[in-house]
Amino acid sequence: MSLKYKVSGVGTIEIDTLVVDSNGTLTVRGEIVPGVIERIQRLQSLGVHVVMISSDQRGNARELADSIGITYYEANNSREKEDVLLSLGSKNVAAIGNARIDIGLFVQSVVSVATLQGEGIHKDIIARVDVIVPSINDALDFFLDENTFIATMKR
Ligand SMILES: [Mg+2]
Repeated sequence: MSLKYKVSGVGTIEIDTLVVDSNGTLTVRGEIVPGVIERIQRLQSLGVHVVMISSDQRGNARELADSIGITYYEANNSREKEDVLLSLGSKNVAAIGNARIDIGLFVQSVVSVATLQGEGIHKDIIARVDVIVPSINDALDFFLDENTFIATMKR
């Protein structure tokens, strides 16, 4: 199963895998943002494979991924994140992140979203993401609410 969006002036965008960063994305200062788990479960129930790729800055990434119920891979730089994404073997990948290390995810994704939140975004990612939102819940809702996705993506 996958998500499909018919985007005017762009075509059909299909997503079967969502790669997410941990620090500054699913979490702010180490704590899972309230509302994240329910939204990820909704995406999983729609058939989306949700994967966390993190450099594990706080040492709790695997525990976080297990508590959310998503697959976890460690990657310690942008290139390693990119390699892990490519190893997943899907061409229909979306990414959510906030930092310079996530550029490897953004360049390999069909749609990429940056979350500003309390930890901020690095300036170098601005040219490489499609959409910037204030929070992870907005980023997940961007994929869950077809009208939001299409309204922001259409030409
Ligand atoms: Mg981050």
